[in-house]
Amino acid sequence: MKTPQNTPIFLAAILFSAFSWMACQPANSQQADSQAAPSDSSKLRPGKNGKVRLTDAEWKKILPPESYTVLRRKGTEYPYTGALLKNKKEGLYVCGGCGLPLFSSMTKFESGTGWPSFHDTFSKANVSNITDDDHGMTRTEVVCSRCDGHLGHVFDDGPAPTGLRYCINSVSLRFVAGGKLATK
Ligand SMILES: [Zn+2]
Repeated sequence: MKTPQNTPIFLAAILFSAFSWMACQPANSQQADSQAAPSDSSKLRPGKNGKVRLTDAEWKKILPPESYTVLRRKGTEYPYTGALLKNKKEGLYVCGGCGLPLFSSMTKFESGTGWPSFHDTFSKANVSNITDDDHGMTRTEVVCSRCDGHLGHVFDDGPAPTGLRYCINSVSLRFVAGGKLATK
């Protein structure tokens, strides 16, 4: 995470991260849900390095507030509130920021945690792991490889065949029905 450029943003980041400790822990909180909206800005075209790079102000302008908070400020949506938690349709879960395919409905499972969960990525290259030492514990954060948007965390208590559990915020994702669901 880059060093915040000014105090208000820094304070906002602290406030949002205060909720992050709840990530992927069972809870019963019920809040209004929301879903990342399609982003079609021409600024979302990848550069020569394959990355999507927008300024913080640009992200704030094109993303719904709740998606901005999670994707760009590493926030966490309240459990059991995500619009995609119970989605059982066939399709792809793409990045709510840049649209990169991240997860397939073929690997979605019910984890009981209150967040959409997957046992594998759509493509290993599209999801990057980062060690997260926040909140006094070491976890593995997962981000979109193209725009570095925060998605959630990955744990090693998932089902076969991978044994992994990608615990992902609904607002970090956008669902696209149908299409090619597997990379192999
Ligand atoms: Zn992305």
